[in-house]
Amino acid sequence: MKRIIVFLLLLNFTAYAQQHKKAIIVLTYDDALESQLDVALPQLDSLGFKATFFLMGNIGQATIPRWRQVALKGHELANHSLYHPCLLTTVKANQANNSGSYTVYMMLREIAEMNNLLFAVDGQTAPRTYAYPCTEVAVGSVNYVDSLRLAGTIKYARIGGGPDAVITDFKKLDVLQIPAWGVHAGVTGDELIAFAKKVQQSGGMGVFMFHGVGGDYITTPAAAHRQLLLYLKQHQDEIEVCTFKTGMDRVAAAGHN
Ligand SMILES: [Zn+2]
Repeated sequence: MKRIIVFLLLLNFTAYAQQHKKAIIVLTYDDALESQLDVALPQLDSLGFKATFFLMGNIGQATIPRWRQVALKGHELANHSLYHPCLLTTVKANQANNSGSYTVYMMLREIAEMNNLLFAVDGQTAPRTYAYPCTEVAVGSVNYVDSLRLAGTIKYARIGGGPDAVITDFKKLDVLQIPAWGVHAGVTGDELIAFAKKVQQSGGMGVFMFHGVGGDYITTPAAAHRQLLLYLKQHQDEIEVCTFKTGMDRVAAAGHN
């Protein structure tokens, strides 16, 4: 009799687990901004969340020791290229960083060298993840996604997207073009939570793309950021918060790819 009860309980549990697949939320932060170190990280660490930071070559003597500590706490240091080339029509920047006059070779070399710099910072040899600067997948009008795939230097890469960028169809997913919601300046806590809820209900995956938090630019107010994190903490039974690499590994391991 006992055996039958255990068996029935197991059956019930299996049915429950299948119906309530845990959704994955990934928090990513671009451009190695100091407000991320000063504001976002203390908030993340106080709640035990691990996040992904897409760094560039402008990290230096003052910030490298801090980023090293970030890695030691279990966060992911990831690749956002060395010089962050963008179309000058999109972002006013140094003419030397105009992606319109880049070649694919220049871009791939820059990504490989940023991998080396990240190794010097955190000593990790595992394959890196990448975020396309300004979410552009082309340089000099040539799409370089497949060249990046062939180069083999990057395991997963993030593109852009709006607040509808909820990932549910993993079979159609290109691991080098994972969409993310690029949150706008002054986003509210309620807007951030609305996206998390959509992901939660879908049982899929959602990636946030932040820049400044409580400072710098494209700034998410510190209170809004904290409001999101508290929501995620309250719903940790249904939502798993993890780094971009871990989240993508989960998806791949589940045979969705
Ligand atoms: Zn960027």
